[in-house]
Amino acid sequence: MATASGDTRTVYRTCPLCEATCGLELRLEGRDIALVRGDRDDVFSHGFLCPKGTALKQLESDPDRLRRPQVRHGDVWREVSWDDAFAEVERGLTPILDRHGRDAVAMYIGNPNVHNLAGQLYNRVLIQALGSGNLYSASTVDQMPKQVSAGLMFGTALSIPIPDIDRTDHLLMLGANPLASNGSLMTAPDYPGRLRELRARGGKLVVVDPRRSKTAEEADEHLFIRPGTDAHFLFAIVNTLFAEQLVSLGDVTDHVNGFDDVERLARDFAPDDVAPVCRIDAEAIRRAARELAAAPRAAVYARIGTCTQEFGTLASWLVDVVNCLTGNLDRAGGVMFTKPATGSANTGGTPGVGRGVRFGRRRSRVRGLPELFGELPVVCLAEEIDTPGDDQVRGMITVAGNPVLSTPDSGRLDRALASLEFMVSVDIYKNETTRHANVILPPEGVLARGHYDLAFYQLSIRNVANYSPPVVDLEPGEMAESEILLRLANIVAGEGAAADPAALDALVVSGLVQKAVQRPGSNVEGRDPDELVAVLSSRSGPERILDLMLRTGPYGDGFGADPSGLSLEVLEGAPHGIDLGPLQPRIPEVLRTASGKVELAPEPIAQDVARLQASIARGRNGQMVLIGRRDLRSNNSWMHNLDILVKGKERCTLHVHPDDAARLGIDDGGSACVRSLRGEVAVTVEVTDAIMPGVVSIPHGWGHDVEGADLSVAAGRPGVNSNLLADGDLFDPLSGNAVLNGIPVRVEHS
Ligand code: SF4
Repeated sequence: MATASGDTRTVYRTCPLCEATCGLELRLEGRDIALVRGDRDDVFSHGFLCPKGTALKQLESDPDRLRRPQVRHGDVWREVSWDDAFAEVERGLTPILDRHGRDAVAMYIGNPNVHNLAGQLYNRVLIQALGSGNLYSASTVDQMPKQVSAGLMFGTALSIPIPDIDRTDHLLMLGANPLASNGSLMTAPDYPGRLRELRARGGKLVVVDPRRSKTAEEADEHLFIRPGTDAHFLFAIVNTLFAEQLVSLGDVTDHVNGFDDVERLARDFAPDDVAPVCRIDAEAIRRAARELAAAPRAAVYARIGTCTQEFGTLASWLVDVVNCLTGNLDRAGGVMFTKPATGSANTGGTPGVGRGVRFGRRRSRVRGLPELFGELPVVCLAEEIDTPGDDQVRGMITVAGNPVLSTPDSGRLDRALASLEFMVSVDIYKNETTRHANVILPPEGVLARGHYDLAFYQLSIRNVANYSPPVVDLEPGEMAESEILLRLANIVAGEGAAADPAALDALVVSGLVQKAVQRPGSNVEGRDPDELVAVLSSRSGPERILDLMLRTGPYGDGFGADPSGLSLEVLEGAPHGIDLGPLQPRIPEVLRTASGKVELAPEPIAQDVARLQASIARGRNGQMVLIGRRDLRSNNSWMHNLDILVKGKERCTLHVHPDDAARLGIDDGGSACVRSLRGEVAVTVEVTDAIMPGVVSIPHGWGHDVEGADLSVAAGRPGVNSNLLADGDLFDPLSGNAVLNGIPVRVEHS
């Protein structure tokens, strides 16, 4: 919905640039954004805005953003028509698929896809059409451990308990810096305001982190922790809860399996034993446990630092074990499950029981790492390309991803991508990764696409629904991302570049409608699918599928069965969103485990505990380790080409504690050489006591100084690629997630 005067209009959209889903008020002059403000009437964000949100204007008008398809022959790039570009893709991919089979073409899906409705809905069409076992994404350099632990405990990958931050009295936070990230796996616009309110109502915030981050500075208490030891710390909390008889499961008592196993497993993690490993005083650990148990309502929340480490799944699991043992699982003010308007794996099927999750249905060719939720760990990608043999990856599709900057051992991946027979990238930039592509297919600008946060409204602190319609038409020569992905799907399915994408889209919708009417308990169960398809026929593309999901979701109108229910039309009439209320207790209905219980000690996780125990026995390790860090004006590698976000003080620096700097002979503002087993970088030093001794930090997503990328602003402030140091041999075995925090390094003056 827009208000207009002359050629100037005001429109409302959800910001697509991070997980917080803030409402934006945009003043448009013609097609151009003249002003960005927080939407004060947004039901969720109430006007909150961070610097990235205002940069939407620069992102839309960035002269380096590609607007037409590009084809590379040798080192020469040419702008071509869409038909020529797809014909080139067909010429490149089809022979590889014909000669070497489906696995010979890999696909990598980058993090921006989660912020993009078309990406969410149509990547899966392309994946299915491709049928390759070589599917990779940014999930295994990010949150996969949490998905694995949630899947094993609750039955589906996104059944992740979310801190009920607005009602809690005590928040213990590990490895997260929401004052810079604005929250992750926890959709909460205006995180700073919510933390202020927590403390204003007498609540307490405790942050556990190897860095005194911006969030830690605002906390009541900050505990430095040795990177990679969050699981030790959390297990010691569990040990204390049992030892001091502080365990109380509350309302979920009758819905939990494995309680005794957890007690047994925790016996080897007494605070006195793990304190030297974590570098947290044993009494501080006991106090943390007592405070969690004593708080009327408490929540433990952990994020990237606890996932991107060698014990990522154990740490992610223990977060929810502690929440459960303190009676805070599934209660107001504790951690709760979102019920999203578009439905999810834990709203379909039989309430309270399911098939659980299974991993390892296939293994990677070279290293034999298991598949997780349909994909392989991205630490395998380079070796699958550069190791000769049957089923070697020879072709590649990337969608909105820059794995050369965001995945481990990126020097090897960079070389591997250069060796491919053919690569096609769906991307708005010629960046460090897509410069290797033979064809780049740039999707439409943000304003020309509809937006709905399918993923983040599944992880939200309130149940919310908000749809942003396109506010400008496609420019001549622009193509919608949904059409690009459908046309690629037609090519890899063997239908040819000229096949009609609309026909495939119709097939997709009809398949989804069939599933909906056949799903037991669905609000359209047993209905005539043709009738539903006909109702949806006034729409096309992502909006048609979104309408179906909303109407068949938990609040949906069931295509007329509940006239007061949700549909896309209802959301179109609510430009500031619809608040569906605070989270409600959902156990046991939310569970989809085979037992119908919360599995507190799932077998794969219980078996991995021995590895953690062995790490205690190894004792205190004095090796210097590298961690990443987040900045408010950055999101992975995405926004480094926007001057408004990268200007000012250099941010890609090495944080070093003053004691380490003195010992190593390196000075603030000078340069240091950081070496790992995999590579080395020379980086500007920033001496600060905000980092604990023995730990250094470089933010990831930088390193824009490679030849062939067209990022003029980023190239002027390139920073260094910390993933040149990350080792593809270091990963969490349960989730395949890369170790990006706690990389052993040596630091020297350079
Ligand atoms: S916090 Fe995230 S969603 Fe909100 S304005 Fe900033 S980037 Fe956009």
